[in-house]
Amino acid sequence: MTNSEKILHTHGLKKTIFRIELLELFMNSVSAVSFEDIKQKVSTTSDKVTIYRALTSFEKQGLIHKVPDKSNKARYALCQEDCSSNKHIDSHAHFICKYCGDTFCINDMKVPKIKDSKGFSISTTNLTLEGKCLECQK
Ligand SMILES: [Zn+2]
Ligand SMILES: [Zn+2]
Ligand SMILES: [Zn+2]
Repeated sequence: MTNSEKILHTHGLKKTIFRIELLELFMNSVSAVSFEDIKQKVSTTSDKVTIYRALTSFEKQGLIHKVPDKSNKARYALCQEDCSSNKHIDSHAHFICKYCGDTFCINDMKVPKIKDSKGFSISTTNLTLEGKCLECQK
């Protein structure tokens, strides 16, 4: 088994040629991957439903997480923490480049714990940073 086949296996995911290609696309990408990127870059399928289903099960099984996107489109990145099928951790900051629109995970910057305030019960806290990515600074 290749490394990517093993990852699919440990996450209880079916090993199809497309899913292997999709996982490798995530593994080889420095920034988060959008639905459009996938449609353009994968060669083993162009079927929207197949792509959508694979993303949904990858997310469900704790392999990828949704990241913030400049235009609120679906964009995903590989989970680095010990996410599992029951629970996503992913309590890190995200960086959005204002110039190219790419989103990056900043795994070593944790989202601070926020206490409930004004009677609101806070369940989710996001930390999104914006600026210029390395590529756009060149
Ligand atoms: Zn996760
Ligand atoms: Zn950029
Ligand atoms: Zn992330």
